[in-house]
Amino acid sequence: MTTAGPATSDRITGVEISSVTLPLPTAISDAKVLTGRQKPMTEVAMLFAEITTEGGLEGVGFSYSKRAGGPGQYAHACEIAPVLLGEDPSDIAKIWDKLVWAGASVGRSGLSVQAIAAFDVALWDLKAKRAGLPLAKLLGAHRDSVRCYNTSGGFLHAPIGEVLDRAAESVDNGIGGIKIKVGHPDNATDLARVRAVREKIGDGVALMVDANQQWDRPTARRMCRALEPLDLVWIEEPLDAHDFEGHAVLASHFDTPIATGEMLTSVAEHTELIRAGGADIVQPDAPRVGGITQFLKVMALADSRNLQLAPHFAMEIHIHLAAAYAREPWVEHFEWLDPLFDEHLEISGGRMHLSPRPGLGVTISDQARAWTVAEQQFHA
Ligand SMILES: [Mg+2]
Repeated sequence: MTTAGPATSDRITGVEISSVTLPLPTAISDAKVLTGRQKPMTEVAMLFAEITTEGGLEGVGFSYSKRAGGPGQYAHACEIAPVLLGEDPSDIAKIWDKLVWAGASVGRSGLSVQAIAAFDVALWDLKAKRAGLPLAKLLGAHRDSVRCYNTSGGFLHAPIGEVLDRAAESVDNGIGGIKIKVGHPDNATDLARVRAVREKIGDGVALMVDANQQWDRPTARRMCRALEPLDLVWIEEPLDAHDFEGHAVLASHFDTPIATGEMLTSVAEHTELIRAGGADIVQPDAPRVGGITQFLKVMALADSRNLQLAPHFAMEIHIHLAAAYAREPWVEHFEWLDPLFDEHLEISGGRMHLSPRPGLGVTISDQARAWTVAEQQFHA
Protein backbone atom coordinates (compact mmCIF):
# COMPACT_ATOMS: atom_id res chain seq x y z
CA MET A 1 0.00 0.00 0.00
CA THR A 2 1.42 3.36 -0.94
CA THR A 3 0.76 6.29 1.33
CA ALA A 4 2.67 8.80 -0.77
CA GLY A 5 0.90 12.10 -1.35
CA PRO A 6 1.75 15.74 -1.95
CA ALA A 7 3.71 15.84 1.34
CA THR A 8 6.13 13.16 0.17
CA SER A 9 9.25 14.74 -1.31
CA ASP A 10 11.90 12.02 -1.11
CA ARG A 11 12.21 8.25 -1.15
CA ILE A 12 14.72 5.63 -0.13
CA THR A 13 16.68 4.34 -3.11
CA GLY A 14 19.60 2.52 -1.51
CA VAL A 15 20.44 0.57 1.63
CA GLU A 16 23.89 -0.73 2.50
CA ILE A 17 24.38 -3.04 5.46
CA SER A 18 27.79 -3.93 6.84
CA SER A 19 29.01 -6.15 9.61
CA VAL A 20 32.18 -4.85 11.24
CA THR A 21 34.23 -6.68 13.86
CA LEU A 22 35.73 -4.17 16.28
CA PRO A 23 38.69 -5.66 18.16
CA LEU A 24 39.21 -4.59 21.78
CA PRO A 25 42.75 -3.81 22.99
CA THR A 26 42.41 -6.12 26.01
CA ALA A 27 40.05 -8.95 26.97
CA ILE A 28 37.29 -7.46 29.13
CA SER A 29 35.81 -9.07 32.25
CA ASP A 30 32.87 -7.99 34.37
CA ALA A 31 31.05 -9.96 37.08
CA LYS A 32 29.47 -12.30 34.50
CA VAL A 33 32.93 -13.66 33.76
CA LEU A 34 33.74 -14.11 37.46
CA THR A 35 30.57 -16.14 37.97
CA GLY A 36 31.52 -18.27 34.95
CA ARG A 37 28.50 -17.26 32.88
CA GLN A 38 30.48 -15.58 30.12
CA LYS A 39 33.97 -15.57 28.68
CA PRO A 40 36.10 -12.38 28.61
CA MET A 41 35.07 -10.14 25.72
CA THR A 42 37.62 -9.54 22.96
CA GLU A 43 35.55 -7.82 20.27
CA VAL A 44 32.29 -6.03 19.55
CA ALA A 45 30.18 -6.93 16.50
CA MET A 46 28.95 -3.72 14.87
CA LEU A 47 26.05 -3.56 12.42
CA PHE A 48 26.08 -0.46 10.22
CA ALA A 49 23.24 0.73 7.98
CA GLU A 50 23.71 3.43 5.36
CA ILE A 51 20.52 4.67 3.73
CA THR A 52 20.52 6.87 0.62
CA THR A 53 17.67 8.75 -1.00
CA GLU A 54 16.55 10.01 -4.39
CA GLY A 55 17.12 13.53 -3.06
CA GLY A 56 20.80 12.77 -2.45
CA LEU A 57 20.78 12.51 1.35
CA GLU A 58 22.49 9.81 3.36
CA GLY A 59 21.82 8.51 6.86
CA VAL A 60 24.20 6.41 8.92
CA GLY A 61 23.09 4.20 11.78
CA PHE A 62 24.48 1.38 13.84
CA SER A 63 23.60 -1.37 16.22
CA TYR A 64 25.91 -3.77 18.00
CA SER A 65 26.25 -7.04 19.79
CA LYS A 66 28.63 -8.26 22.47
CA ARG A 67 29.96 -11.85 22.62
CA ALA A 68 27.31 -13.40 20.33
CA GLY A 69 24.54 -12.31 18.00
CA GLY A 70 26.44 -10.17 15.49
CA PRO A 71 26.05 -12.56 12.52
CA GLY A 72 22.38 -13.06 13.43
CA GLN A 73 21.67 -9.32 13.53
CA TYR A 74 23.37 -8.91 10.17
CA ALA A 75 21.45 -11.79 8.58
CA HIS A 76 18.11 -10.47 9.86
CA ALA A 77 18.91 -6.94 8.65
CA CYS A 78 19.71 -8.28 5.17
CA GLU A 79 16.43 -10.21 5.05
CA ILE A 80 14.19 -7.27 5.95
CA ALA A 81 16.13 -4.42 4.25
CA PRO A 82 14.15 -4.55 0.96
CA VAL A 83 11.01 -3.21 2.70
CA LEU A 84 12.78 0.14 3.13
CA LEU A 85 13.10 0.76 -0.60
CA GLY A 86 10.69 3.33 -2.02
CA GLU A 87 9.54 4.57 1.38
CA ASP A 88 9.61 8.24 2.40
CA PRO A 89 12.61 8.28 4.80
CA SER A 90 10.83 10.83 7.00
CA ASP A 91 8.05 8.34 7.81
CA ILE A 92 10.18 6.70 10.49
CA ALA A 93 7.39 5.35 12.70
CA LYS A 94 5.66 3.74 9.74
CA ILE A 95 8.95 2.22 8.55
CA TRP A 96 9.68 0.79 12.03
CA ASP A 97 6.31 -0.97 11.99
CA LYS A 98 6.92 -2.27 8.48
CA LEU A 99 10.31 -3.66 9.47
CA VAL A 100 9.00 -5.35 12.60
CA TRP A 101 6.08 -6.91 10.71
CA ALA A 102 8.49 -8.18 8.03
CA GLY A 103 10.11 -10.31 10.74
CA ALA A 104 7.12 -10.71 13.05
CA SER A 105 7.61 -14.42 13.63
CA VAL A 106 10.95 -13.76 15.38
CA GLY A 107 9.34 -11.32 17.77
CA ARG A 108 9.39 -7.69 18.86
CA SER A 109 12.40 -7.70 21.11
CA GLY A 110 15.95 -9.00 21.18
CA LEU A 111 17.98 -9.65 18.09
CA SER A 112 15.21 -8.86 15.61
CA VAL A 113 14.67 -5.29 16.81
CA GLN A 114 18.40 -4.77 17.32
CA ALA A 115 18.76 -5.37 13.56
CA ILE A 116 15.97 -2.82 12.97
CA ALA A 117 17.79 -0.34 15.25
CA ALA A 118 20.59 0.19 12.71
CA PHE A 119 18.01 1.31 10.11
CA ASP A 120 16.03 3.39 12.59
CA VAL A 121 19.13 5.27 13.77
CA ALA A 122 20.14 5.88 10.14
CA LEU A 123 16.69 7.32 9.38
CA TRP A 124 16.88 9.71 12.35
CA ASP A 125 20.39 10.73 11.27
CA LEU A 126 19.06 11.39 7.79
CA LYS A 127 16.08 13.38 9.04
CA ALA A 128 18.29 15.61 11.19
CA LYS A 129 20.68 16.11 8.27
CA ARG A 130 17.72 17.14 6.09
CA ALA A 131 16.84 19.72 8.75
CA GLY A 132 20.49 20.80 8.99
CA LEU A 133 20.44 20.16 12.74
CA PRO A 134 22.27 18.00 15.25
CA LEU A 135 19.87 15.17 16.17
CA ALA A 136 19.43 16.52 19.72
CA LYS A 137 18.18 19.83 18.30
CA LEU A 138 15.75 18.08 15.97
CA LEU A 139 14.33 16.18 18.96
CA GLY A 140 14.19 19.32 21.11
CA ALA A 141 17.22 19.59 23.36
CA HIS A 142 17.23 20.70 26.98
CA ARG A 143 20.99 21.34 26.93
CA ASP A 144 24.04 21.44 24.63
CA SER A 145 26.19 19.23 26.85
CA VAL A 146 25.60 16.24 29.08
CA ARG A 147 27.35 14.99 32.23
CA CYS A 148 29.55 12.03 31.41
CA TYR A 149 31.27 9.26 33.36
CA ASN A 150 33.85 6.68 32.34
CA THR A 151 33.24 2.93 32.52
CA SER A 152 36.01 1.45 30.39
CA GLY A 153 38.73 1.97 33.03
CA GLY A 154 36.95 0.11 35.82
CA PHE A 155 36.53 -3.49 34.70
CA LEU A 156 37.31 -6.49 36.90
CA HIS A 157 40.22 -7.84 34.83
CA ALA A 158 42.17 -4.67 35.71
CA PRO A 159 44.23 -4.70 38.92
CA ILE A 160 43.33 -1.89 41.32
CA GLY A 161 46.48 0.09 40.48
CA GLU A 162 45.43 0.24 36.85
CA VAL A 163 41.85 1.17 37.78
CA LEU A 164 43.15 4.06 39.90
CA ASP A 165 45.45 5.29 37.12
CA ARG A 166 42.63 5.17 34.58
CA ALA A 167 40.26 6.96 36.97
CA ALA A 168 42.78 9.78 37.50
CA GLU A 169 43.39 9.97 33.75
CA SER A 170 39.64 10.23 33.04
CA VAL A 171 39.21 13.02 35.57
CA ASP A 172 42.24 14.83 34.08
CA ASN A 173 40.62 14.50 30.65
CA GLY A 174 37.51 16.33 31.83
CA ILE A 175 35.23 13.37 32.51
CA GLY A 176 32.82 14.00 35.38
CA GLY A 177 32.42 10.58 36.98
CA ILE A 178 33.92 7.12 37.38
CA LYS A 179 32.08 3.82 37.38
CA ILE A 180 33.77 0.64 38.46
CA LYS A 181 32.64 -2.94 38.19
CA VAL A 182 31.90 -4.99 41.29
CA GLY A 183 30.87 -8.60 41.81
CA HIS A 184 33.99 -10.31 43.16
CA PRO A 185 33.22 -13.57 44.94
CA ASP A 186 34.65 -11.88 48.03
CA ASN A 187 32.59 -8.78 48.91
CA ALA A 188 35.53 -7.30 50.83
CA THR A 189 37.55 -7.06 47.59
CA ASP A 190 34.76 -5.03 45.99
CA LEU A 191 34.48 -2.71 48.97
CA ALA A 192 38.25 -2.18 49.13
CA ARG A 193 38.37 -1.29 45.41
CA VAL A 194 35.45 1.13 45.68
CA ARG A 195 37.01 2.83 48.74
CA ALA A 196 40.37 3.10 46.96
CA VAL A 197 38.77 4.80 43.96
CA ARG A 198 36.81 7.17 46.21
CA GLU A 199 40.04 8.10 47.97
CA LYS A 200 41.86 8.62 44.66
CA ILE A 201 39.26 10.84 42.96
CA GLY A 202 38.04 12.63 46.09
CA ASP A 203 34.51 13.45 47.21
CA GLY A 204 33.87 15.94 44.41
CA VAL A 205 33.85 13.41 41.59
CA ALA A 206 30.80 11.22 40.93
CA LEU A 207 31.31 7.52 41.62
CA MET A 208 29.09 4.60 40.58
CA VAL A 209 29.34 0.80 40.76
CA ASP A 210 27.97 -1.92 38.47
CA ALA A 211 27.40 -5.54 39.55
CA ASN A 212 26.23 -6.70 36.10
CA GLN A 213 23.32 -8.72 37.57
CA GLN A 214 25.47 -11.13 39.53
CA TRP A 215 24.38 -10.70 43.16
CA ASP A 216 21.55 -12.64 44.70
CA ARG A 217 19.00 -10.77 46.80
CA PRO A 218 20.73 -11.24 50.21
CA THR A 219 24.14 -10.26 48.80
CA ALA A 220 22.63 -7.23 47.08
CA ARG A 221 21.03 -6.10 50.35
CA ARG A 222 24.31 -6.50 52.25
CA MET A 223 26.30 -4.70 49.57
CA CYS A 224 23.80 -1.85 49.21
CA ARG A 225 24.01 -1.34 52.99
CA ALA A 226 27.82 -1.50 53.04
CA LEU A 227 28.05 0.94 50.13
CA GLU A 228 25.67 3.57 51.59
CA PRO A 229 28.42 5.62 53.34
CA LEU A 230 30.38 5.95 50.07
CA ASP A 231 27.86 8.39 48.60
CA LEU A 232 27.57 6.62 45.26
CA VAL A 233 25.57 8.22 42.45
CA TRP A 234 24.06 4.79 41.81
CA ILE A 235 24.39 1.03 42.19
CA GLU A 236 23.83 -0.60 38.82
CA GLU A 237 22.25 -3.98 38.06
CA PRO A 238 22.64 -5.40 41.56
CA LEU A 239 20.27 -8.26 40.58
CA ASP A 240 19.19 -10.17 37.52
CA ALA A 241 18.01 -7.66 34.90
CA HIS A 242 14.51 -9.19 34.87
CA ASP A 243 14.08 -9.23 38.66
CA PHE A 244 12.10 -5.96 38.64
CA GLU A 245 10.54 -6.69 42.02
CA GLY A 246 13.93 -7.32 43.64
CA HIS A 247 15.29 -4.07 42.23
CA ALA A 248 12.19 -2.25 43.52
CA VAL A 249 12.80 -3.51 47.06
CA LEU A 250 16.40 -2.25 46.96
CA ALA A 251 15.29 1.09 45.51
CA SER A 252 12.80 1.59 48.33
CA HIS A 253 15.05 0.37 51.18
CA PHE A 254 18.28 2.19 50.47
CA ASP A 255 19.21 5.81 49.88
CA THR A 256 21.68 5.05 47.08
CA PRO A 257 19.76 5.14 43.79
CA ILE A 258 19.33 1.89 41.87
CA ALA A 259 20.09 1.98 38.13
CA THR A 260 19.12 -0.71 35.63
CA GLY A 261 17.60 -1.31 32.19
CA GLU A 262 20.52 -1.90 29.82
CA MET A 263 19.63 -5.55 29.20
CA LEU A 264 16.01 -4.88 28.30
CA THR A 265 15.24 -5.08 24.60
CA SER A 266 11.76 -3.62 24.22
CA VAL A 267 9.55 -0.77 25.35
CA ALA A 268 7.26 -3.41 26.90
CA GLU A 269 10.03 -4.64 29.22
CA HIS A 270 10.96 -1.09 30.21
CA THR A 271 7.29 -0.38 30.95
CA GLU A 272 7.23 -3.34 33.30
CA LEU A 273 10.45 -2.26 35.03
CA ILE A 274 9.23 1.30 35.48
CA ARG A 275 5.76 0.25 36.69
CA ALA A 276 7.38 -2.05 39.25
CA GLY A 277 9.44 0.84 40.61
CA GLY A 278 12.60 -1.15 39.86
CA ALA A 279 14.77 1.80 38.82
CA ASP A 280 15.52 5.24 40.21
CA ILE A 281 17.69 5.73 37.13
CA VAL A 282 16.59 4.09 33.88
CA GLN A 283 19.33 2.87 31.56
CA PRO A 284 17.86 2.15 28.14
CA ASP A 285 20.11 1.38 25.20
CA ALA A 286 18.83 2.63 21.84
CA PRO A 287 20.42 -0.13 19.71
CA ARG A 288 19.12 -2.78 22.13
CA VAL A 289 15.50 -1.57 22.27
CA GLY A 290 15.09 -1.23 18.51
CA GLY A 291 16.47 2.24 17.84
CA ILE A 292 15.68 5.85 18.59
CA THR A 293 11.95 5.57 17.85
CA GLN A 294 11.56 3.05 20.68
CA PHE A 295 14.06 4.79 22.97
CA LEU A 296 11.95 7.97 22.82
CA LYS A 297 8.97 5.98 24.15
CA VAL A 298 11.05 4.70 27.08
CA MET A 299 12.25 8.25 27.69
CA ALA A 300 8.67 9.57 27.80
CA LEU A 301 7.69 6.85 30.23
CA ALA A 302 10.68 7.56 32.50
CA ASP A 303 9.90 11.26 32.39
CA SER A 304 6.26 10.65 33.32
CA ARG A 305 7.48 8.96 36.53
CA ASN A 306 10.08 11.66 37.30
CA LEU A 307 12.92 9.18 36.93
CA GLN A 308 16.49 9.88 35.98
CA LEU A 309 18.10 8.69 32.75
CA ALA A 310 21.55 7.24 32.12
CA PRO A 311 21.61 5.50 28.72
CA HIS A 312 23.85 2.47 28.34
CA PHE A 313 26.94 2.46 26.02
CA ALA A 314 26.85 3.94 22.45
CA MET A 315 27.57 7.52 23.57
CA GLU A 316 27.69 8.64 19.92
CA ILE A 317 23.90 8.10 19.75
CA HIS A 318 22.99 8.64 23.38
CA ILE A 319 24.49 12.11 23.77
CA HIS A 320 21.69 13.34 21.48
CA LEU A 321 18.94 11.47 23.30
CA ALA A 322 20.19 12.39 26.77
CA ALA A 323 20.46 16.04 25.72
CA ALA A 324 16.73 15.90 24.92
CA TYR A 325 15.73 14.49 28.34
CA ALA A 326 14.01 16.82 30.78
CA ARG A 327 16.07 15.86 33.86
CA GLU A 328 19.86 16.20 33.92
CA PRO A 329 21.07 12.80 32.68
CA TRP A 330 24.42 10.97 32.53
CA VAL A 331 26.06 9.58 29.39
CA GLU A 332 28.44 6.64 29.61
CA HIS A 333 31.94 7.22 28.23
CA PHE A 334 33.65 4.35 26.43
CA GLU A 335 36.45 5.09 23.97
CA TRP A 336 35.93 1.66 22.36
CA LEU A 337 34.00 2.92 19.30
CA ASP A 338 36.39 5.83 18.62
CA PRO A 339 38.28 4.04 15.78
CA LEU A 340 35.01 3.51 13.88
CA PHE A 341 34.36 7.19 13.28
CA ASP A 342 36.27 10.17 11.86
CA GLU A 343 34.80 12.58 14.43
CA HIS A 344 35.04 12.40 18.20
CA LEU A 345 33.00 13.98 20.96
CA GLU A 346 34.52 16.88 22.83
CA ILE A 347 34.75 16.38 26.59
CA SER A 348 35.54 19.04 29.19
CA GLY A 349 34.37 20.24 32.57
CA GLY A 350 32.79 16.88 33.40
CA ARG A 351 30.59 17.02 30.33
CA MET A 352 30.33 15.75 26.78
CA HIS A 353 29.47 18.46 24.27
CA LEU A 354 27.14 18.29 21.29
CA SER A 355 28.86 19.20 18.06
CA PRO A 356 27.21 21.57 15.56
CA ARG A 357 27.41 18.85 12.88
CA PRO A 358 23.99 17.78 11.56
CA GLY A 359 22.55 14.36 12.38
CA LEU A 360 24.53 12.12 14.70
CA GLY A 361 27.60 14.00 13.54
CA VAL A 362 29.64 10.92 12.67
CA THR A 363 31.07 9.41 9.50
CA ILE A 364 32.33 5.85 9.20
CA SER A 365 36.14 5.71 9.22
CA ASP A 366 38.47 3.92 6.82
CA GLN A 367 39.48 1.72 9.76
CA ALA A 368 35.87 0.58 10.18
CA ARG A 369 35.75 -0.19 6.43
CA ALA A 370 38.93 -2.25 6.83
CA TRP A 371 37.33 -4.25 9.68
CA THR A 372 34.22 -5.03 7.58
CA VAL A 373 33.58 -8.77 7.44
CA ALA A 374 30.39 -8.80 5.36
CA GLU A 375 28.35 -6.28 3.38
CA GLN A 376 25.27 -6.23 1.21
CA GLN A 377 23.61 -3.53 -0.89
CA PHE A 378 19.99 -3.06 -1.92
CA HIS A 379 18.79 -0.66 -4.60
CA ALA A 380 15.36 0.47 -5.72
MG1 LIG B 1 26.16 -1.82 33.14
